[in-house]
Amino acid sequence: MEKTDILSLELPELEALLEAQGEKKFRAKQIYQWLHVKRIFDFDKMTDLSVQLRAHLKEYFCVNGLFVQKKLESSIDNTVKYLYRLSDGNYVETVLMEYSYGHSICVSTQVGCRFCASAIAGYVRSLTPSEILMQIYETERDSGVKVSGVVLMGIGEPLDNFDNVVKFLRILSDGKGNNFSLRHVSLSTCGVVPRIYDLAELRLQLTLCISLHAADNNARSEIMPINKAYNIQELLEACRYYIDRTGRRITFEYAVISGVNSSDRDADRLSDLLRGLNCHVNLIPVNRVKERDYHTAQSAVADFAKRLGKRGINATVRRTLGSDIEAACGQLRRDAAKKDTENGGADA
Ligand code: SAH
Repeated sequence: MEKTDILSLELPELEALLEAQGEKKFRAKQIYQWLHVKRIFDFDKMTDLSVQLRAHLKEYFCVNGLFVQKKLESSIDNTVKYLYRLSDGNYVETVLMEYSYGHSICVSTQVGCRFCASAIAGYVRSLTPSEILMQIYETERDSGVKVSGVVLMGIGEPLDNFDNVVKFLRILSDGKGNNFSLRHVSLSTCGVVPRIYDLAELRLQLTLCISLHAADNNARSEIMPINKAYNIQELLEACRYYIDRTGRRITFEYAVISGVNSSDRDADRLSDLLRGLNCHVNLIPVNRVKERDYHTAQSAVADFAKRLGKRGINATVRRTLGSDIEAACGQLRRDAAKKDTENGGADA
């Protein structure tokens, strides 16, 4: 019999399972607190449970841990990138970033994704709720830092792993456990329109971020294949619905790429597109990915932001963190471990 991955269970699920197995339901809350508040994952260390119950847990449940395979520390901005090995031997990357107000963590939701550098090696599989959660727990443990922000902007498309991501969010924010406010969580999607409607119905308090990157369909289809399935107009209609339903402001991410989407005309198109919408634009200086030759000219982002501002669109520029360790947006990849072995197994 396969053991149940206990960190992927919401409290009511754990209660129901224990009860069905003939254990006392109220014990679930105790176990849940050991896991999510005290972060103790060894059933034998859950000292207020009976020896019999601990044996029961060991027989029926498991904790799928993550192992730090490699850790890279930026010498310019204190960003730390973790390469975690999953229990099945796959790898994911997690980035811990330092800001003036605290630390943010960027977690992965899949092994491989379709859009950024992590797609170059191809898509592999979705992560379980516990694998997403454990990136936070393990990073906090290893670094001794308590994160104050979580961004779902690592490897993968969160909305292509909808059920597990929602479960992760529920466990992360559960007042009876880890109690992390979803107001400090951002979820970034390339624009999986039907799932944006689904997410709207849940009315979560997180910030939805849309990787827009172009304001006209030709240009967007060129850089983002998903645009061929759901075009900009369909995407914005879903965004309008999302804002109405949740009352939350949306962030549009726009990587300014010279010669592709950085002209005055592009800025004007973008402002026309977003006018009247409760939103905010986050401009990203495009990060180098060696397989692609995108780049951003020195003053392009500031000029673009200024032009949007003049036309009434609120825009900020995303700080580039961890670029010396390939930890910046779009640079994470699933084959990081493999790449290093090919390079002679250099350890940083
Ligand atoms: N699949 C989701 C989640 C990944 S988020 C999505 O597409 O949104 C990764 C973030 O990095 C997003 O903000 C995305 O817009 C940005 N990004 C991807 N490639 C990039 C690159 N080469 N330079 C800068 N930002 C990039």
